[in-house]
Amino acid sequence: MITEIINSNDKKAMQRAADLIKSGGVVAFPTETVYGLGANAFDGAAVEGIFTAKGRPADNPLIVHIENMNMIESIAVGIPDDFYLLYEKFMPGPLTVVLHKNKKISDAVTAGLDTVAVRFPRHRTAAELIKKSGCPIAAPSANISAHVSPTTAEHVFADLNGRIPMIIDGGECSVGIESTILDLTGDTPVILRPGAITLDMLRKTLKEVAEVECRAETPKAPGMKYRHYSPNAELRLTGNRGEAAAFYDEAAAAGKNVALIVKASNAPYYGSRNIFVIPDDAKGYAKKIYALLRLAETSSDTIICESPETSGAGASVLNRLNKAVGKSGFKTDGRSETL
Ligand code: AMP
Ligand code: MG
Repeated sequence: MITEIINSNDKKAMQRAADLIKSGGVVAFPTETVYGLGANAFDGAAVEGIFTAKGRPADNPLIVHIENMNMIESIAVGIPDDFYLLYEKFMPGPLTVVLHKNKKISDAVTAGLDTVAVRFPRHRTAAELIKKSGCPIAAPSANISAHVSPTTAEHVFADLNGRIPMIIDGGECSVGIESTILDLTGDTPVILRPGAITLDMLRKTLKEVAEVECRAETPKAPGMKYRHYSPNAELRLTGNRGEAAAFYDEAAAAGKNVALIVKASNAPYYGSRNIFVIPDDAKGYAKKIYALLRLAETSSDTIICESPETSGAGASVLNRLNKAVGKSGFKTDGRSETL
């Protein structure tokens, strides 16, 4: 299959992208978080195409993307008041909420769960694609399963060339890490995956919000069961530049091709070592981390990464990096984490 890359400003090509979705195809598209691989959420066979293209395990559910509130009732039932409070404050934006599912949504989307994850993206191209397609679009990140999420069209192409018909190029994603996932189906709202919308921000809108790393039953959020976000290289994470330099020298002495991802303010410290520079601030770090992991993995077999700051958005990036190194890998059964 030839993979075509179209420009998001090309109206005619955007119409062809929507026609592909309408006819049961899959299309990769930009959002403010990461690039998604989308299909009609009402069409089970189309959604299967996403799983095939990514090599994604069938029991890992997708997020359903909408572009207006009228779509919500065809996706979810028994929508709680909290949803509308969150809608006023954070939507469109990088927040996904888990609700009780409407039967119209394909079981392939929700991996057989009776709940559904919904997001209203802020990115104008994502909104345009959903609107032109006339249906909610189910989409996970547009990478080969378990690899680092894509934040540019080139990243998507690198993973999925020949496996999908079309990628919409809308430039670099502004947030750079996946959405916050908040479960609204229990007594208390629970953050299943941290993201740019932080616990503190949510607590200003909702009375009570809890955080969960994992639940023992059916996994409810990414990273609970499978390894995620991993570069094709050994990844080590440290908050200490002395330790980062020592890891580097040790690996280099052992004959490894080593890369360091270091904060801009620490860059001079590393002398002539092979460094990739990342912004110090948490938002800038989140925006660039996946691109730098992808860049570093092309030339290195070992990547040593300085941790982001641990507050706010930094904590969400740290969550992804910890999963990438396998620290918080969580298995509910004997299946491999490296699918
Ligand atoms: P991705 O962002 O590529 O990891 O894909 C979407 C993520 O949303 C999945 O990994 C799921 O864990 C999460 N998700 C989708 N549907 C649900 C749901 N019904 N309950 C909890 N999490 C969900
Ligand atoms: Mg993903």
